[in-house]
Amino acid sequence: MRLVVGECIADLHPSEAGGVGDATTYTRRPGGAPANVAVGLARLGDAPRFWTRLGRDGFGDFLADALAAEGVPDDLVERDEEAPTGLAVVGRDAGGERSFSLYLDGTASVELRPGTVDDALASAEWVHVGGVELAFEPARSAVLDLLDRVSGDATVSFDPNARPGLWREFDYADTLDRVLPAVDVVVASAEDLRPAGFAGDASELARRLVDAGPHTALLTLGPNGALGRATADAPWGTGEADHGGFAVDVIDTTGAGDAFTAGAITALSEGRALADAIRFANAVGAASTTAEGAMAALPDRESVESVLAG
Ligand code: ADP
Repeated sequence: MRLVVGECIADLHPSEAGGVGDATTYTRRPGGAPANVAVGLARLGDAPRFWTRLGRDGFGDFLADALAAEGVPDDLVERDEEAPTGLAVVGRDAGGERSFSLYLDGTASVELRPGTVDDALASAEWVHVGGVELAFEPARSAVLDLLDRVSGDATVSFDPNARPGLWREFDYADTLDRVLPAVDVVVASAEDLRPAGFAGDASELARRLVDAGPHTALLTLGPNGALGRATADAPWGTGEADHGGFAVDVIDTTGAGDAFTAGAITALSEGRALADAIRFANAVGAASTTAEGAMAALPDRESVESVLAG
């Protein structure tokens, strides 16, 4: 069983280029990086358990319905009777590039409590944790507690999803120092690492990441695919592997990193070797860019196979 932990929030998308103050109207879409990963796994054929928390409000109902429609079991989808559901207000520049402003502090998203999912943790073979929860209490304590308790037999993956503006109460670089030794696989982009002072080319970044603790580092490189490095502790082979990505007709790259993560978790837990898993994850990432939206554009196996077949 695979367990995903982190935020599921409603993204408010502007109806036209611009954002607050420019856009005339907004529409809502389900979002949150860990939610995208959970749904990405489901579309690839899994039924991952997803520990998240929603408000008992209209946005919470909307998100709970969206997860249920994707076949994500609801047993760890908590509802908070007081705190509202977390939100993101999305901006879009003229080139189509999106920016996300998050409303998280004091929301249900960061009301995860330590010890709540110990039973699920005991039977999880893979645990994936998103980074945003680490910026706020009590979710930070809940995630750190979970990392301390997870069984040595489970593989733990982590996507820092850095958003420099979120880090007020806690220091991002110190948090990575605390978390990286407790995880097996880190999936990151160069933008996730820059605020923590990690510099260099992809190969150097991957080397620095595995030096910090995880046995495997996967670095996503947008249209240029991804690079991975694994040490001798990794079950899928040692050394560096890269794959230059797939050329597809890109419509919207939002959520491509989450699609890649779902693909990597799927491929590595199916026993594929590192290089093959990176190729598969790139195909999932590329396929997700061929349709509008983040969660909506996550591909099923058939779409991934057609990218792999060229
Ligand atoms: P993030 O969405 O976290 O910024 P990236 O932009 O690096 O992450 O994208 C994640 C993955 O999605 C890449 O490693 C690649 O496999 C795929 N991808 C992203 N953009 C493109 C693109 N323009 N063409 C093909 N594949 C892409």
